[in-house]
Formats: sequence, C-alpha cells, structure tokens
Amino acid sequence: MNDWDVVVVGAGPAGAASAAQFAGKGFRVALLDRAHFPRHKACAEYLSPGVRNVAQRLGVWDSIQRAGPCSVPGMEVVSSSGKVLRLDYSVEGRRQYAATLPRHVLDERFVAHAVASGATLMSGVIAHEPMMDGSTVVGVRASQDGATLSVPARLTVVADGHRSTIARALNVSVPAWWPVRMGLVAHYEGQARLRDGFGQMHLGPEGYCGVAPLPDGRLNVAIVIKADAVRSSGLRASDFFERWIQRMPALRTLLADCSRISPVRGVGPIGSRARRVSTDGAMLVGDAAGFFDPFTGEGIYRALRGAELLCEVGHDALLRDDVSAARLARYDTLRSREFTRKLAVTSLVQLFVQFPLLMEYALPRLTRRTQALEVLGSVLGDCSDAREFLNVPTLWSALRP
Ligand SMILES: Cc1cc2nc3c(=O)[nH]c(=O)nc-3n(C[C@H](O)[C@H](O)[C@H](O)COP(=O)(O)OP(=O)(O)OC[C@H]3O[C@@H](n4cnc5c(N)ncnc54)[C@H](O)[C@@H]3O)c2cc1C
Repeated sequence: MNDWDVVVVGAGPAGAASAAQFAGKGFRVALLDRAHFPRHKACAEYLSPGVRNVAQRLGVWDSIQRAGPCSVPGMEVVSSSGKVLRLDYSVEGRRQYAATLPRHVLDERFVAHAVASGATLMSGVIAHEPMMDGSTVVGVRASQDGATLSVPARLTVVADGHRSTIARALNVSVPAWWPVRMGLVAHYEGQARLRDGFGQMHLGPEGYCGVAPLPDGRLNVAIVIKADAVRSSGLRASDFFERWIQRMPALRTLLADCSRISPVRGVGPIGSRARRVSTDGAMLVGDAAGFFDPFTGEGIYRALRGAELLCEVGHDALLRDDVSAARLARYDTLRSREFTRKLAVTSLVQLFVQFPLLMEYALPRLTRRTQALEVLGSVLGDCSDAREFLNVPTLWSALRP
C-alpha cells in the first residue's frame, strides 16, 4: 500500500491549495517543499480581485485578511511618452478591489491552511524525479539533508513552479518562445506619489516596471525585462535595477523620495507552457502547468483556480481508484475551458506591451471608451469571463480609430 494518497510537490499557492482540499476530504496528503516557510519569492505580490473569490471558497481568505493586506483599487498604465490609462475593476457597476501582501506572508498562510486541513508538511525536501511503475507516476524520489527519500503516493500533484523539475522529467514542459523575460523585484519604503492608491505599470525600454503599494507604507517594485538584459549589461542585478529606474523619468520621479529596503531578487526566464497537464498518476498545477507573463498579474489566481479544478478531477479519480491518464484527461479539458480565452486577452495585451506604437495608439482611445475599458478591467481582474471582451463589438469599440 502507498504511504500517501496524494503527494504534492511544491507548497506555493497552487500546491498548498491542492493539499488543503485533498486533506479536507480525508485523504492522506504529503506536501513537500525544498524551502522552509516563511520563504521569500520574487513576485509583484498583487492579488487580482478574483483571488479573493477563490480564496473565500477555499476557506483561506479570512486568514489572509487577518495578515492585513493592502487594498488596491486598480492599476495605471504609463506609456513611454507619459500617457496614462487608469484601469479599475467593476462588475455591473460594483467596485472590486485587488490586494497586495508580501509573498513570505501570503504563502505561509496557504501552507498553514493546508496543515490545519490535515496535510503533512515536509519542509527542506527536494524532489528530484518521479517514481515510475511502467508509465505511471507513483510518487517522487527526493532528498532531505543529503539523504535520499522515496515518497510513494497514489496521485502525484506537480506544483513545483515555473521551472518544474518534475514536469521536465515527465517531458511535458516546453519553454516559452515569446516573450522570453526575467523579473527583478525589490521592496522600497518612503513617500511615493501613487495617485489615489492605484498601482502603476511603467512601460520602458525592453520591458516594464510595476510599482504597487504594500501594507505598512512599503512598495513592491518589479521590473520585467528581456531575459538576457542583465547578463549583456555586465552589471550586477541590483545596479542594473537601479540604473533602469533612473532611465525612466516618470518612474524616477515616483520613487525619488523612496529607498530600497530589500535585496533585488531575480527570477527567469519566466515563461513556460505544458503540452499536457495530466498523465498516468500525475497532475500539474500552477506555474508548473505553464506561465505566460506577470504584466496582467493573474499567476496566483490561476494557481488557485487550477487547484480547484485539479481537486475536482483528482478526488473523483481517487474515489474510483483510477488515476489513469484517460480518467485525469478531464482536468486538461476543464483547464483549457477555464483559461484559454483569458490567455487570448493577455496575449493581445502583450502585443501592445511589446510594440510601444500600438500602446500609444490604444491608451487614449481606451481611456475615452469607458464601457470597453470597464469590461477589460473586470476580465483582467479575473472577475468576468474573457468572452465579455473577446467579441467583435467590444473589441471594435476598444480599438477602432
Ligand atoms: C517577476 C514576477 C512577478 C509576478 N507578479 C505576480 C503578481 O503580482 N500577481 C500574481 O498573481 N502573480 C504574479 N507572478 C506569478 C506568480 O508568482 C506565480 O504564478 C505563482 O507563484 C504560482 O504559484 P505556484 O504555487 O505554481 O508556484 P510557486 O509559488 O513558485 O511555488 C512553487 C514551490 O515549489 C517549490 N519547489 C520548486 N522546486 C522544488 C523541488 N524540486 N522540490 C521541492 N520543492 C520545490 C518552491 O520552493 C516553491 O515553494 C509573478 C511572477 C514573476 C516571475
């Protein structure tokens, strides 16, 4: 008999949310992570309004709320020439809010929720490869403090993030061909002149920079740039980061009275996709199942919503004692139904981010077309179905000359 019903590799939001749900249904769940929590994670730390809805369903929102997140009404996109588009989130006239919370706090809340639900947390455990019985995944081989460890399970949940060791070993992960970028993130404190509490997204040479208010008057500053930009500059990441800010007049002014209070954390290259998200005995979730780009800030939402879909299918498979690829394939279908259209919207937005002239064209038009703008905001905030934006009348109204 397997020791565990489910082994979850990676205790980020995707893994912890999956573990909590399986454990809550009475399954024996091992949740393993190479890190010890709380741990830092390079992220813009922005929770789209949709996160609140899923986190409420998962029963973890109250705990997040007690950690004192900062409520954010929306984002301003600032083009290279200084044009500003203000994007907020409303559904049928009702205002929704995004939130921010440092990842070392947020992720610990998710892990604590998984443990309170009955999962066993194994920290400092590095997963190296799937254990196979023929073509079926039957757990993972790992190590802890240099000693090897086998963690056999009926179902393996692959949630080890964007450079997933297990997804690569299963040969289902493919690096993104566009856009190929990396992220650099730091915390600041001081008097930033953010208008009305909105975050700001500044578009610049070879990338963009997001500035978002954090609790306690701090700021998250995240630069996303071409994957080789730091290496080819010959600079240290922290020097590159500060020089890049200095090259952007509006950003320089915004942060003039602020100082950096954390190291610059880097991550990259950040894009990947998975050819499939289930196989015999295993299911992928969160960034391990693919990640596009942080501009539209939906990674955590996708991680949590993906975990909900995974558990719906995985629960049924465990009850039937059938974790074959054929049984788990419904998860692939549910995910593509759920995420493909939003991906089309974010890809469209990326096109404008990549080509500054397109952005200069779109920003003043969208600012005037308030109805299309409201729809775009609610779709990007994960509050509305992407179909509401992806139809000819709305697209025409947003982008016509
Ligand atoms: C620069 C940047 C900014 C971003 N900003 C935002 C934002 O503002 N809002 C948003 O919603 N999303 C943002 N994202 C995306 C977001 O960070 C991810 O989508 C989210 O963290 C995915 O969660 P996850 O649980 O899949 O993976 P992760 O949060 O990466 O968790 C994976 C876990 O797996 C563990 N792990 C990895 N390998 C192993 C191994 N071999 N063995 C054991 N454990 C392992 C890691 O320690 C980690 O704890 C950003 C991404 C980047 C790169």
